Amino acid sequence: MRIGCPKEIKPQEFRVGLTPAAAAEAIAHGHEVVVETGAGVGSGFEDAEYAATGATILPDAATVFAQADMIVKVKEPQAVERKMLRDGQVLFTYLHLAPDPAQTHDLIASGATCIAYETVTDRMGGLPLLAPMSEVAGKLAPQMGAWTLQKANGGRGVLMGGVPGVGPAQVAVIGGGVVGTHAARVAAGMGADVVVLDRSLPRLRHLDETFGGVFRTRYASATNTAELVAQADMVIGAVLVPGAAAPKLVKRDQLSGMKTGAAIVDVAIDQGGCFETSKATTHEDPIYEVDGIMHYCVANMPGAVARTSTIALGNATLPFLLALADKGWRAACLADPHLRAGLNVHAGQLTYAAVGEALGLPS
Ligand code: NAD
Repeated sequence: MRIGCPKEIKPQEFRVGLTPAAAAEAIAHGHEVVVETGAGVGSGFEDAEYAATGATILPDAATVFAQADMIVKVKEPQAVERKMLRDGQVLFTYLHLAPDPAQTHDLIASGATCIAYETVTDRMGGLPLLAPMSEVAGKLAPQMGAWTLQKANGGRGVLMGGVPGVGPAQVAVIGGGVVGTHAARVAAGMGADVVVLDRSLPRLRHLDETFGGVFRTRYASATNTAELVAQADMVIGAVLVPGAAAPKLVKRDQLSGMKTGAAIVDVAIDQGGCFETSKATTHEDPIYEVDGIMHYCVANMPGAVARTSTIALGNATLPFLLALADKGWRAACLADPHLRAGLNVHAGQLTYAAVGEALGLPS
């Protein structure tokens, strides 16, 4: 099979769908790899690194799309890319079709077989191709929150770990899943005093058994949440209710009860955010103030550390990519129900029920 990797064209997207290491593995499996010139530059991978694996560098995306049997990307195809997809071609990337009728219609019309990273599952009921980005966003959250807390950025002027004789920052993490756990570990590692709130008792038990002594846990009742938010120098929002918008757990009138200059890092902003005052921001202009509280709400946090994110995503996608290339998409999906769960569109049909329900389309 010929695997094609175009350069990402969505604004501020520096990741790339295929690392040179992944290209080398695909080539070792007997496949051909074609890469658009400059595709890896945003993640620190030069054309020469791909060429050294045996991949062919092509001058533009149109040539990559025309030559490849399977296109591997990061972000959903943009309108200009969707026009280049063809009947029978395989597309393997993040799609997020439910809120995106225009993309869904174009993919259906293309006749391509479109497998979405975000709906591939694993044996534990997790989402293995979303988890790496949650790990990245979680580890980044205290780092960005610490920056937001600095006086010059409008913050409270509190150092995460304190110093001898001065106490550390108080950090509350709402949601103790993948993002929340990674955020709590890093915040605790920076020396902060960290508490994680979650609605799931099994999750709290697991966190307590694994991280007791590193950070504390509290049940996320409205009372506990309000109390810990009011005490915090930094609050990290990391909740997820699968298939739904994030619940608004902190209302605007609570901000006046918080410490002036406290930092909110709403990682759940890509699901609408879990603070009433959250609105999505960008890496260029990441923070804003409401009622004396600094908000950091970047919807694409992993993009800030594109190289780490690309390699982490590549590690997770590679086994599925090789299965698709080695067996062909049909046999690979028949052999692996978790990969099959990624199939969203095939041959002019929507094949993922939840997207059909969200958009009122047959599936
Ligand atoms: P996850 O499913 O692993 O964890 C979510 C946790 O939230 C679960 O433990 C769940 O029990 C808990 N929860 C649900 N409702 C709650 C409530 N009312 N109060 C307290 N806890 C509650 O999800 P995740 O992978 O950690 O993702 C968390 C959020 O981060 C999601 O919204 C995800 O889309 C987002 N995310 C954003 C970025 C970004 O760049 N901004 C990157 C990755 C993930």
